[in-house]
Amino acid sequence: MTIHLVGAGPGDPELLTVKAARLIAAADVIVHDRLVDPRIFDIASPGAERIDVGKRPGWSATKRPGWSATQSQINSLLVTLGSGPGRHRTIIRLKGGDPFVFGRGGEEAAALQEADVPYEIVPGLSSSLAGPAAAGIPVTHRGISASVTVVAGHREGHDDTDWAALARLGGTIVVMMGVEHRAAIAAALVAGGRSSCTPVAVIERATWESQRTLRSTLAELGETDVSAPAVIVIGDVAALSLTSQTTDARFAQRVVSER
Ligand code: SAH
Repeated sequence: MTIHLVGAGPGDPELLTVKAARLIAAADVIVHDRLVDPRIFDIASPGAERIDVGKRPGWSATKRPGWSATQSQINSLLVTLGSGPGRHRTIIRLKGGDPFVFGRGGEEAAALQEADVPYEIVPGLSSSLAGPAAAGIPVTHRGISASVTVVAGHREGHDDTDWAALARLGGTIVVMMGVEHRAAIAAALVAGGRSSCTPVAVIERATWESQRTLRSTLAELGETDVSAPAVIVIGDVAALSLTSQTTDARFAQRVVSER
């Protein structure tokens, strides 16, 4: 049995790839986690078996102890499903965004490879890039930012990210899983030399019906009331708001022309 490791994109079902939509519609078994927008399941067959590994005990404590055990349970589940009978069944492992951008899809693929279970990776739109775009923020913009760094923000205790180096690098920083430690991240970037006035945009539940964008600065980020899942965009592009409904167009224009 081939296991399809499918990226579900950031949320909006219309942002699924054609291949992901086809596989979801054909699936007999869907193993998914919390980050999948519920509207995506409307495409699935009513008879499909849905296994919500996001609700397992320990999952919410993802960052620390329970996490690796839970991840190994997911790996074993995928191996068991892939080794089982039912040659004509379509089994998909549905992951938010792109399966190989955080979210541990690489580990699942490695477990399948080790167990000799055939698998296929179906890339998806990662919220790291699609989230900012959905909020009208180009992560790179001529004259403002020529690079984007996507970084995890959840490992404060044993943080191996060199925030000072990131601060010096310039360009746009997109922090994933950073809501909890946003104050410490902002402080580390300011300590590393980024101005405390650097614009920040937090995009909560990008492309979900409840999408929300909160604008602040590095100095204000810690006080901004945000909830996960969210991507945090740090850098001058975060002041842009290129949506046709925007009322900030003149502000955006100022940012562009000031450079
Ligand atoms: N593979 C996913 C990322 C998984 S890590 C991807 O490529 O998008 C989980 C983190 O992704 C969350 O903590 C959050 O930072 C981000 N995230 C995922 N979906 C999101 C969404 N719809 N809106 C905002 N952030 C999202």
